Amino acid sequence: MTAHDAPTWTERLRAAGLRVTSRRLAVLDALDAHPHASADEVYARTAQTVPSITKQAIYVSLGDFVEHGLIRRLDPPGSPARYETRTEDNHHHLICDECGAIVDVDCAVGEAPCLAPSHDAGFSVRVAEVTYRGTCPECLARADALVAQS
Ligand SMILES: [Zn+2]
Ligand SMILES: [Zn+2]
Ligand SMILES: [Zn+2]
Repeated sequence: MTAHDAPTWTERLRAAGLRVTSRRLAVLDALDAHPHASADEVYARTAQTVPSITKQAIYVSLGDFVEHGLIRRLDPPGSPARYETRTEDNHHHLICDECGAIVDVDCAVGEAPCLAPSHDAGFSVRVAEVTYRGTCPECLARADALVAQS
C-alpha cells in the first residue's frame, strides 16, 4: 500500500466514523489508481488483492463512501455510474460520446455553483453539474483515418 501525504485513507475513514477494514482500503486504493471506474471495474481490481470480496460488498462500500463524502459519484449519460476519489474541488468532466472516455477538467471558477441560472425560482442553488460532451482525440484521429482510407 502506498503512503499518502495528506490524511491517509485510514485517517479519513476514521474521521467519517467508518470502520477501517482491508476491504474498504482496497476499494479506495483501486479508485485512487483508476479514477472514474464503474462498480464492476472497482470489483475486478479489488478482487485481485482481496479475492474473497463480493460485488455486493463493493456496491455497499461505494454507497457508504459517497454518503460520507469520501468519494464522488458521477452518472455519465447512457452508461453505469462512475466513482472517483477527487472530491475536494469542483472539477468537471469531458466525456467522449464515441468511446465513453472521461477526462477531468478543472473548474474555471473553482467553487460550486459555477454557473448562474437564468433565474433561480427562489432556490438556494448549491451546485451546477457541468459535463462537456464531445469526441476525444483518439476517436477524432480514428475518424480521420477512416476518411483518409476511403
Ligand atoms: Zn473517444
Ligand atoms: Zn473526475
Ligand atoms: Zn465550473
